[in-house]
Amino acid sequence: MSKRTQRKSLDYVKKDYVKTRTMPGNWYLSSYTYKFNLTHMQPFLKKLKEKKLVGLKCPGCNRVFFPPRLVCGQCLIKPNQWVDLRETGEVSSFTIAYLKDPGTGKVQEKPMVLIRQDGADTVYMVELNPEVDYKDTYIGMPVKVHWSEDLKGSLADIEYYDLVEDNARDLDLHKE
Ligand SMILES: [Zn+2]
Repeated sequence: MSKRTQRKSLDYVKKDYVKTRTMPGNWYLSSYTYKFNLTHMQPFLKKLKEKKLVGLKCPGCNRVFFPPRLVCGQCLIKPNQWVDLRETGEVSSFTIAYLKDPGTGKVQEKPMVLIRQDGADTVYMVELNPEVDYKDTYIGMPVKVHWSEDLKGSLADIEYYDLVEDNARDLDLHKE
């Protein structure tokens, strides 16, 4: 940076705008219609129907999105390379939501689990097998896709995730 531009930036004074006029107004958001583009999802959904998982890779940062994204938020370009992914993944984060039924007042505990599919760099929210006691859930817990009986070519084809045996072991760092 030259001395001249340096001085110039130091002299910068933020302009104060005088409020001139106030008008009442409303913005009816519900009157808008949105078009949500799903075309980038088509190959992914087609593969789901064949019980296959694919992620979408960004050529800029090499990150693999699962589920696929239309635009890479870092590179601002369209990811365009499909890569095969395994059925396995791991719990990346989780929490428990306590949902109160407004009628009965009964509180239902619902686990919210984020999974990172093996080979992907992103996470997404899924259901665990209802037989799993979610209090046993931990970060890094290995899981596997449980396919729906009725494949429709939608994200619902992944009905939930089953647990896989965790063969990771603690290191004997404190051996006597
Ligand atoms: Zn990128």
